Amino acid sequence: MPIRRATDRKYVAHAARPIKPWATENAWMLHHDPMTGFVNRYASLSKTEQWLKSAPDDNKNRIAMWISIDRFKKINESFGHSGADTLLIATAQRIMQFSSKENVLIRMGSADFVILLSETNLDRAEEFGIQLLSVLATPLPIDEILVHPSVSIGLAEALPGENPSSILERSDYAMLDAERRGGNQLEVAGRNHVVGRSGVQLAREELVIESALYHAIRTGGLDFHYQPIVGMDGNLVSVEALMRCHTDSGPLPPERFIPVAEKTGLILRLGEWGMLQGARFASHLSKSGLNSMVSINVSAAQLGSPNFIKTLHASMIVSDIPPECIELELTESMLMDKSTTIQDNIRGIKEAGVALAIDDFGTGFSCLAQLKDLPVTKLKFDSSFIRMLPQDDRTYAIIKSITVLAHDLGMSVVAEGVETVGQLEACAAAGIDATQGYYHSRPLTRSGLLLWELNRKTANG
Ligand code: C2E
Ligand code: CA
Ligand code: CA
Repeated sequence: MPIRRATDRKYVAHAARPIKPWATENAWMLHHDPMTGFVNRYASLSKTEQWLKSAPDDNKNRIAMWISIDRFKKINESFGHSGADTLLIATAQRIMQFSSKENVLIRMGSADFVILLSETNLDRAEEFGIQLLSVLATPLPIDEILVHPSVSIGLAEALPGENPSSILERSDYAMLDAERRGGNQLEVAGRNHVVGRSGVQLAREELVIESALYHAIRTGGLDFHYQPIVGMDGNLVSVEALMRCHTDSGPLPPERFIPVAEKTGLILRLGEWGMLQGARFASHLSKSGLNSMVSINVSAAQLGSPNFIKTLHASMIVSDIPPECIELELTESMLMDKSTTIQDNIRGIKEAGVALAIDDFGTGFSCLAQLKDLPVTKLKFDSSFIRMLPQDDRTYAIIKSITVLAHDLGMSVVAEGVETVGQLEACAAAGIDATQGYYHSRPLTRSGLLLWELNRKTANG
């Protein structure tokens, strides 16, 4: 986002629209925005001046709050002017309903509003702003899609002797800081920021998916399917938890909803819930007499969260399982990430006694030698390798030698995407320890998995 300079916005009368004689016929129209009924930009300076002058003691207890709708341009592009107007009007109405009568409400520009607060102090104004962040984030239906709006808020407390353009400018800058930090947060001019949910720019299709995800969360449309991972001896080694999202128009594949959840920060919520579900299912499996682990996928955003280890421990405590019952799947790039939180979390996983697997191995840029110092106990070959088997000798040679190396480094090896008996046999010949794929089973519901295992045991006597 380009950084706006002081000269980009001028709060001086000559920068406003020139007054046309015929416009003066209606004084109200001249000073108000017809869409929202708020004071318009043209009248903002004189209103702010009056507001400052009305303070009993040199601008005391006067605070300006600048509010800007996040990703408004994107909404305009996605839904056209009428959709954008719906959002503007709803935002203005919510601001009006939430503000007291004494406040002056101004529409500054396309998606920008200012509230001039009187007889308040910074703490109260900040509290009001934080409540407003959540009021203005209430989902709104536009063109049959539930849009999840957010705003950025800047607060500036009037200084003694300060003029109207200066306080407006300072609140605007504070808002721009909040916007630059990702939106949906509040910044006080000259103070630290207050963080909310991260704002992002989504395309229309992604907004549809985001809306479907929220709907699924509210209505219980999210659950897990479990896919068996079978050892070469035929034993069930573990089951991988794979998230499913059911919408009114059918299932939404993870390839579509996981990236959106990652962009919007929703993945943190889904991930916490998923960790708990996985741990609960691990407890259920062990109570059913099955000795298999549950493998849980972890996304980069989750691993970058300072709460990650707390969630991991809480899930195990609530489900009453030992750490050996679960395993976390991370990708190569996550393991190679040197950021402090990620490295602390990887250490925390190891200290908790939970096993780590490298997921999608072969799709990243790392090599095993780089991963040798990491606390990884399993390597999962990506299905793109397995698809080349059994015909492609070179792929087979690579798989075989990496498997030897992984074993030397103390890791077990799993092949993903095994669909045919030919692939299974090639994996066995390459020394791979376990396989996962449609050859054994597609991902199954909780009861489906237990039934699948029971049938297998019965068939094998
Ligand atoms: P993944 O972790 O690589 O999971 C394996 C994917 O391969 C699953 O797709 C599974 O259904 C599919 N698969 C398994 N066997 C076969 C086979 O024989 N042939 C073919 N063609 N495909 C097979 P799914 O369930 O659609 O999940 C896709 C991806 O979404 C996962 O890839 C994972 O990256 C992500 N994902 C799923 N659940 C979660 C979750 O709870 N959290 C996170 N962070 N990501 C998840
Ligand atoms: Ca996985
Ligand atoms: Ca995988």
